[in-house]
Amino acid sequence: MNDVKVLDKEFTLSISESDLQARIASLGTTLNKDYKGRDPLVVSVLNGSFLFTADLVRHLDWDPEIQFIRVSSYKGGMSSSGEMQILLDLKTPIQGKDILLVEDIVDTGNTLEWLRTYMMNRGAASVNLITLLFKEEAFQAKTPPEYIGFNIPNEFVVGYGMDYAEHGRSLPAVYTLKS
Ligand code: 5GP
Ligand code: MG
Repeated sequence: MNDVKVLDKEFTLSISESDLQARIASLGTTLNKDYKGRDPLVVSVLNGSFLFTADLVRHLDWDPEIQFIRVSSYKGGMSSSGEMQILLDLKTPIQGKDILLVEDIVDTGNTLEWLRTYMMNRGAASVNLITLLFKEEAFQAKTPPEYIGFNIPNEFVVGYGMDYAEHGRSLPAVYTLKS
């Protein structure tokens, strides 16, 4: 299945299911090494990262507390705006904790930057971010993600948790908008 249609748009395969899963396993190995002896709180940034978080945490050799946060800047279209709003907040204090933020994709970096500040203001000891996809060319923030699954071109993608107008999330692979 190299081409898919989501609502009115055509997409073509960008990263296969097996490439995704192999990379996620290797990210897990890296995290297990880097966080050895620590117990970071995993914070999954909804909605797009639900599948990545689910697959990633099953490669971790510690049993992390997992929390979810949802912020909105992205209005269901195909570009993100600058304004940030908390739609679902953390349920436990994060004072003094190491945080591992899990994102589906970092584009401009606005969300990442905002979340880092938010977590540090709430007393986190450290905040690192792991993202499955990174659009390096679109990135405008100060600090890039600490862990990156794949660098991708500045093109709109769907699948593996990521949506086009709330559809396409259940696709097991990542697809790019056909031009
Ligand atoms: P940023 O704040 O880095 O510009 O964008 C972050 C959020 O915008 C991502 O977490 C994701 O929800 C959304 N986003 C950015 N690029 C894409 C894309 O190509 N496809 C989809 N489905 N969402 C995207
Ligand atoms: Mg996201």
